[in-house]
Amino acid sequence: MAASTKTNLSISSVHDDHSQYKATWTQRAWFASGCATVLISLAKSMLILTAGAPTGPRTLLHLTMAALLGHLLADLSSGIYHWALDNYGSAETPVFGSQIESSQAHHQCPSEITKFETGGIVYVVAGVVTAAFLPVNLFSNDPIFLSFVGVLTGFVLFTLKIHAWSHTPRRELPPLVAALQDAGVLLRWSQHAAHHQPPF
Ligand SMILES: [Zn+2]
Ligand SMILES: [Zn+2]
Repeated sequence: MAASTKTNLSISSVHDDHSQYKATWTQRAWFASGCATVLISLAKSMLILTAGAPTGPRTLLHLTMAALLGHLLADLSSGIYHWALDNYGSAETPVFGSQIESSQAHHQCPSEITKFETGGIVYVVAGVVTAAFLPVNLFSNDPIFLSFVGVLTGFVLFTLKIHAWSHTPRRELPPLVAALQDAGVLLRWSQHAAHHQPPF
């Protein structure tokens, strides 16, 4: 009887351990709305370009520059935001308290981030992306600007997932992610490792 109770407790605690990494349906809904916002930017840009006058090398150059600028700005802004969370405030700080606590706890237990379902780590950013950029999608008809917004919000939306992938053993990464890490498009462990040394 005692053994049976102990087994039930063990099963219960294993279940709890797994369930804490699962996203709620609300978090998944925010993740989906963030993805939809990014896809609308990119799709609307392509639709305007294909429906309009034939595109030449000049348009392709502008699209490339817009994508590069979106990637650079996402990298820079997420880096500054992470640095601020690591160095200022505490769990009691209004609005940002839980993010500051998570960011600083990540230094104590770096691989924990790899266990979470994607929606459970990106939902806050997804909410911001949706609120700030869905109106932009509705009102802008500039295909170059919409491409810039699509790439920027795409990388911003997946910032924490990209961070989690940098902590994931290479054999467990999707092949496309590993290739993008090798190409320098996504953060890789060799680049991120220095950050996990004091003073972070
Ligand atoms: Zn950090
Ligand atoms: Zn890290």
